[in-house]
Amino acid sequence: KSVITVKELTKTYIMGPTKVHALRGIDLDIATNEYLALMGPSGSGKSTLMNLLGCLDTPTDGEYWLNGTNVSTMNDDELAEVRNREIGFVFQTFNLLPRLSSLENVALPLVYSGMPKAKRLARAQEVLEEVGLGDRVGHKPNELSGGQRQRVAIARALVNKPSIILADEPTGNLDTKTSIEIMSIFERIHQMGNTVILVTHEPDIAEHCHRIVRLRDGVVETDERNEHVVRAD
Ligand code: ADP
Ligand code: ADP
Repeated sequence: KSVITVKELTKTYIMGPTKVHALRGIDLDIATNEYLALMGPSGSGKSTLMNLLGCLDTPTDGEYWLNGTNVSTMNDDELAEVRNREIGFVFQTFNLLPRLSSLENVALPLVYSGMPKAKRLARAQEVLEEVGLGDRVGHKPNELSGGQRQRVAIARALVNKPSIILADEPTGNLDTKTSIEIMSIFERIHQMGNTVILVTHEPDIAEHCHRIVRLRDGVVETDERNEHVVRAD
């Protein structure tokens, strides 16, 4: 079953007299439970595509179907609602609030759900335990290592039980050993039934994913199963 279908997805930025053709007709079908790496040189359109998939922006042309709903024609309020329900974001720089504990950072997205506070904190505790940080719930970001911070950020992305996790260079600020730990957490999230899509420049990171899509100049250059992983299965 497809969670994401994009057809002829196009994004053109207008900058004064100039048009930047960031995406020039992307076709992709992404099934529930895929673990996909998005690669490609700087300027190839990766961020633009992630912004569209994450319902942070709308396409100039083409269609985006998310769980069977055409989101390409939605207005900002509808888009925000879909985004809060369906998407969890993870960033290269973690984007945690420095004054809040791990538990409070992770519970934050639940404020909009109307869930009572005790329930929000219990849910945050549960997700922090899932990412192996059950003993760090009271720590603030500056009391944690980079890998631990990214695990808090992953827990925050998961707390709403979204169907899709979008991660932009999630290991870009981490050393090799920590990066591998983070990738194994994404692997586990994927095995729990989530769609995981991440941007990376590093072949060693993409190697952990099951499908590798490469963009070039705003089009899909290659779209391949990762045979190494397929054989290991
Ligand atoms: P974004 O558009 O998501 O910010 P960029 O493509 O601009 O991503 O690059 C993010 C980071 O990766 C930047 O620090 C950039 O210098 C670096 N980078 C960009 N392209 C490459 C590449 N081909 N190989 C290695 N690092 C890259
Ligand atoms: P990548 O993430 O692969 O580096 P981007 O999606 O950031 O690629 O950029 C694709 C193209 O769109 C680039 O030429 C970039 O300069 C341009 N671009 C990206 N964002 C904007 C924007 N907000 N306004 C104008 N041009 C943009």
